[in-house]
This record gives sequence, structure tokens and C-alpha cells, in this order.
Amino acid sequence: MTSIDVLLDKYNYSVPRYTSFPPATQFTEKLSNDQYGQILSALPADKAVSLYVHIPFCHSLCLYCGCNTKVVSSYSPIESYLILLLAEIELVGKRLTGKLPVNLLHFGGGSPNYLKPKDLKSIINKCKEFFDFTETSQIDIESDPRYLDSSIINCFAEVGVTRVSLGVQDFDLEVQEAINRVQPFEQVKSCVEELRANGINQINFDLIIGLPKQTIATVTKTAEQAASLAPNRLAVFPYAHVPWMKKHQKLLEKYSMADGAERHLMNEAVDKILKSHNYSAIGTDHYAKDGDPLCTAQSEGQLRRNFQGYTTDISEAIIGFGLSSISSYKSAYIQNTIDPVAYRSDVQEGSFPMSKSCVLSDDDQSLRSLIEELMCNFEVDISCYNDALRDDIDSININLSKLENDGLITIDGSHIKITDAGKPFTRVVASSFDPYFEIQEGRHAKAI
Ligand code: SF4
Repeated sequence: MTSIDVLLDKYNYSVPRYTSFPPATQFTEKLSNDQYGQILSALPADKAVSLYVHIPFCHSLCLYCGCNTKVVSSYSPIESYLILLLAEIELVGKRLTGKLPVNLLHFGGGSPNYLKPKDLKSIINKCKEFFDFTETSQIDIESDPRYLDSSIINCFAEVGVTRVSLGVQDFDLEVQEAINRVQPFEQVKSCVEELRANGINQINFDLIIGLPKQTIATVTKTAEQAASLAPNRLAVFPYAHVPWMKKHQKLLEKYSMADGAERHLMNEAVDKILKSHNYSAIGTDHYAKDGDPLCTAQSEGQLRRNFQGYTTDISEAIIGFGLSSISSYKSAYIQNTIDPVAYRSDVQEGSFPMSKSCVLSDDDQSLRSLIEELMCNFEVDISCYNDALRDDIDSININLSKLENDGLITIDGSHIKITDAGKPFTRVVASSFDPYFEIQEGRHAKAI
């Protein structure tokens, strides 16, 4: 078997995360307002959609941050943004043929819990004006534990928030100081207790591997502490060092950071701890308590992957609102502008505040399914995708043979299966089927 060091040498290159296919780096076109209006009007009124609302504001800057956000010390920019956000929801809502049922409303950021309770309510109420929220509709919200006070937790309970994702990252003080995000274990613990006391029992933690000052010992302790609070799910993301896109990350370069081999060992250490606490590995970087719907979805081959990571959400359409949000439809992705000035002028003029989009051909749609299947199930029968693969099949086969020789996959006729040794390189395997992919440093985060 090829050793991990050799595999890292060969395959630990810059590769998309495949939360979408084509990846966001391929979003280049710009649809006209009418074209986007037609996509919205074509959504069947009886088919449930999901909604994503982006709140691009934070109290302070975490130095590892790769999100689209802005640090603001006063609330007035949020108030101004809110007016535009509500107008955008209305703009989109008016193009729909009816009140579409909602599977999931997800608030991401930034720090959505920067919102005042009355403002969170007004966004949800605006969504309810144009979409049908039923008993099964879920509301998820990403939150920064440092600013999760009782008033906003009470509001979460009042508006029916079903799941809260807490950004934990790492519990070690030295790591927290290096990344400019100090939040003691006790602070996170008291958030979890208060959420549960308010009836919000679905709690996710995000952890990050590859931050400065992390060692196997620190991530092991963090995983133990995280598990002791019994969140339902954890996402263990690899730190994406992309200083060409996020300049503040350069400030972390004064620290030595784990290389691929060290990250691999840290991932293994965390994996071991979480499994010993009855968590199952989900896809490439998530964990869920045994019995969680994510475990059922994975065992039944129903796991899905979208911009929020692994999910049970089966919506074919996700409508995004707010700066930089991405909407996902059967035949197109549409990304809102990241420029606040353009966002304001577009919304005030009654135009969709889009900046980039990607129209998916029939082949793209097939490849999206193939790659999602690989990312979720670690196996795929590629004969189901013959039409989409035909033009590139020779180079794909050469690539697959290399991966097979290195023990990353097994090939049985048209059936490709990622081995345990290959799982850390799942994105690399997926890239074999991505006709847009070329190895190019500085375009994506590394595989590990
Ligand atoms: S709280 Fe989250 S979005 Fe805000 S700066 Fe920190 S990592 Fe980025």
C-alpha cells in the first residue's frame, strides 16, 4: 500500500470543496433580470424550496475567517442592510407563482446572532409573507457563542428556530488567542445549556483543523470537550488558508502551521475521540450522534451536499438572499454581489442584485449528481453517467487507474469505490470527473 507521505506528496494539492458543481470559481456569466425572473417563475408552486439568508456582519475579525463579512461596531449598518434585505425578499417573492412551501430557512454569515430579536423576527415574517412555513419547516441559524445572550436565545425559541450551529473551532486558549477568537469552554457550555433550556435541542458545533498552535494534544482535548457537551452534529473543517482572497489570513503566517501529514494525524485523533463518544462519520468532514437523521440518510444513500455542507435537505431549489448569497436551481447557480454599493443600488432599482451565475448544461447536471454521489456515498456506478463522461472518458480512465494503483479507489467494472485510505482524498477523486478542474495552486484550499 502507498504510504500516507507519498499520497500527500502526490495528491495534497489545491482542489474544490465540491459543495457545488461546477464549483463557484466557474461562476462567470451574468444572467439578465428577466432570465432570473423566469427561473423563479418556473419554480412549481407545490414543490418545497429552501431559503438561505446571509447576515454579513461580525463583532470582531477571526483571523482564519474565509466568510463574506464585515466587522461593525455600531448597529446602524445592520439596520440599513435589513431594509434592503427585506426588499430583496419581496422582489424575489413577487416573481414566484405562489407561496412555495419551505423545507429549511438557514441563516448564515457573518454572525446572524448580531441581529436584534425584532430584526430576526422581521426577516422571518417577511419570508412568511411570500413562502409557506409548515409544521415541518426548519429554521437553522449559525451563531457566535461569544454574543449569544438570553434575549436572542429567547427570540430563537419564540420564532421556532430548530437548530443552532455554534462556531467553536478550538477550545485551546493559545489557539484562540492566535486566531483572535477567545471563547472559554464555560461560555460555550452555558450557551448549550441555555439553548436546551429553551427547547432548542438540535445543536451543531463547527471545529477547525489546521489552525496555528494546534497540536494533536490540543485537538484531542478540544474533541473531548466538544463531545462532553453532546452536540447532535459536528463539522470538522480543514482550515482553508487562502490569503490571496482573505488578506487578513496573512497575519497567521507568523505561526508555524501544520502541514498535510500533521493535519492528517490531527483528523485521525479527532475521528477516534468522536467515534468513541458514539458519533458516526458523515461524508468527508461531518459527524452525527448515532440515530441522527444524517446517519439514517447516509445509511440509506439519501445524504445530500450543498453550500452548507452535508445535509438531509432534499430541496432542488435553494433561494439565497443578501450580500454574496448563492441560489441553487436545477439548471443554474446565481450569486449575489459582494459589493454593498451595488447591492444597494440594484435592490433600490428593483433589480436582482446578482453578480455572477453559472448555467448548467445537461452534462453539468449529470456530473453534479455523480460528484455529489461520490462526496456523500464514497462510491458511484459511472455507467449511469456515460453520456456526460463520453468526451473525457479516456483521460478519466487514465486518472482512475493511477488512483487505483495508489490504493485510493477500487474499480469493479463501472463501479468506483473510494477506499478507507482514499477517503481523506475524496475531493481529489471527485476532481477526476470535473472537466473544469486543473491543478493550479492558489485557486482552492488544499485537499487536506
Ligand atoms: S465570527 Fe465567523 S464570520 Fe465572523 S469573523 Fe469570525 S469566523 Fe468570520
